[in-house]
Amino acid sequence: MVRARSEAEAAWLVAESREGTRVIAGGTDLMLGIERKKFAPVGLIDIRRAGMNRIDITDNAVRIGATTTATELSKFAPLQSVAAGLWEAAATLSVPTIRNMATLGGNIANASPAADMVPPVMAMGGVVTVRRGDEKRKVSLEKLATGPGRTQLTGDDLITSIELPKWADDAFHHFVKLGFRDAQIIAVCSLAMSCDMDGDVVRKVGIALGSVGPTVTRAHAVEEFLIGKRLSREVGHEAMALLAQDISPITDIRSEAAFRLKVAQNYLGDALGRAYIHSLGQDARGVADDKHLEVLKDPAPRPPSLARARTDVLGAVHSKQKTLRILSTSEDAYLTRDAGSGQPKRNSMATRKKKTTKKKATKRKTKKKAAKRKTKKKTAKKKTKKKAAKKKTKKKAAKKKATKRKTKKKAAKKKTARKAGKKKAAKKKAKKKAAKKKAKKKATKRKATKRKTTKRKTKRKTAKKKTTKRKAKKKATRRRK
Ligand SMILES: Cc1cc2nc3c(=O)[nH]c(=O)nc-3n(C[C@H](O)[C@H](O)[C@H](O)COP(=O)(O)OP(=O)(O)OC[C@H]3O[C@@H](n4cnc5c(N)ncnc54)[C@H](O)[C@@H]3O)c2cc1C
Repeated sequence: MVRARSEAEAAWLVAESREGTRVIAGGTDLMLGIERKKFAPVGLIDIRRAGMNRIDITDNAVRIGATTTATELSKFAPLQSVAAGLWEAAATLSVPTIRNMATLGGNIANASPAADMVPPVMAMGGVVTVRRGDEKRKVSLEKLATGPGRTQLTGDDLITSIELPKWADDAFHHFVKLGFRDAQIIAVCSLAMSCDMDGDVVRKVGIALGSVGPTVTRAHAVEEFLIGKRLSREVGHEAMALLAQDISPITDIRSEAAFRLKVAQNYLGDALGRAYIHSLGQDARGVADDKHLEVLKDPAPRPPSLARARTDVLGAVHSKQKTLRILSTSEDAYLTRDAGSGQPKRNSMATRKKKTTKKKATKRKTKKKAAKRKTKKKTAKKKTKKKAAKKKTKKKAAKKKATKRKTKKKAAKKKTARKAGKKKAAKKKAKKKAAKKKAKKKATKRKATKRKTTKRKTKRKTAKKKTTKRKAKKKATRRRK
């Protein structure tokens, strides 16, 4: 991991990095992705300390550095008037520990359709500055994400900042989301709206929704329809119906498509009602739910037209629990389809409760069964392991025995060989001795023969001498005669 100390260094490190290297900002999405084997980066470039966490408000824009965290955004008070939707999204994103790490750039680059900070930025017409080395380009946030977890960014690109065009000073900015757990929520549906009104006539409007399609989606058809319209019951309901054209919610483990559409439509109706109240110079966001309810209950300042839409999601902004409670009293929100006809069917709350209880019981049963199966599997695995271990030990012992036997055999062989060698040596020695003896005998014999021959020769010489002496004596005798 390398740590960039400035924006330029970060941009160059990213541009010149090896393929498979990833940028890490807060790491809340990335580390989870690595743990879940969604990412396997070959290297990391840490940009948290690259000095990209400034928030600047100019005459015509709000410029936010990419590594600005949700906590930093929620603590930046001026944001409440110029981009209240983003402020709300940042302040309600997950839990404080996550907010302290989660950056706006990371939320955008991760391209989750449920990203909380994306809808308010998109509703305002936010633009992302992307840098590759020294080269900079601006991309509309709406066009950045190409699918869930996918963007048009390449491995060489770095998001350096996000620019929000400035709206009229009295524009209404709004964000609301629905999740089914108080902390660590992934929104089932979220809606952000920025609305500039001339009295009760819509002058300019931006609407973006999360978790209702493969990417955070802008409601262009609804926006076009609303511009120039005076808010009324009919306009509100038409806008809500038109929303079905802009979004394509899916059914997943968190919610059903029909429920998502209904929530999105109700959120839109609610947002339009709040925009109207805001245009009257009243606080449409409210501080406490009860106070907010009081404002909306009073028929005088609001068109009665939007009342029904609002009653479905009243109090949604500040209390997720309340949102759930209020939504659950709206039977419309639980439209399901008849198994036979495929027609939408309303479930009474009692049926819904019964169904939920049954579902819970089935879930519990399935869980129990799964646990049993797991235990059985575990026991079987343990048994097999034990057996295998036993087999292994037996095999080892047999191997040891065989090795011992082999060693013994080898030793015996060696001993025999040694014995045989000794015998051979002894035989050789004996043979040598015998040969020596024989040679000695031969020598003695030869000596004896030599001695005999010499003796015979001496005898013959003596005899010859004697004969010669006798002959000489005879000769002398004859001569004397
Ligand atoms: C427990 C938990 C709860 C959460 N709850 C919420 C929630 O309620 N709402 C919500 O919206 N999100 C939620 N998230 C998701 C996450 O916190 C946010 O998406 C966060 O904003 C991501 O920012 P980060 O700085 O942590 O991104 P990282 O994890 O650092 O990066 C995410 C991705 O973006 C890339 N990236 C980061 N910065 C840049 C950049 N400047 N340029 C180019 N690419 C970049 C990284 O390479 C990576 O692929 C939650 C996450 C966790 C773990």
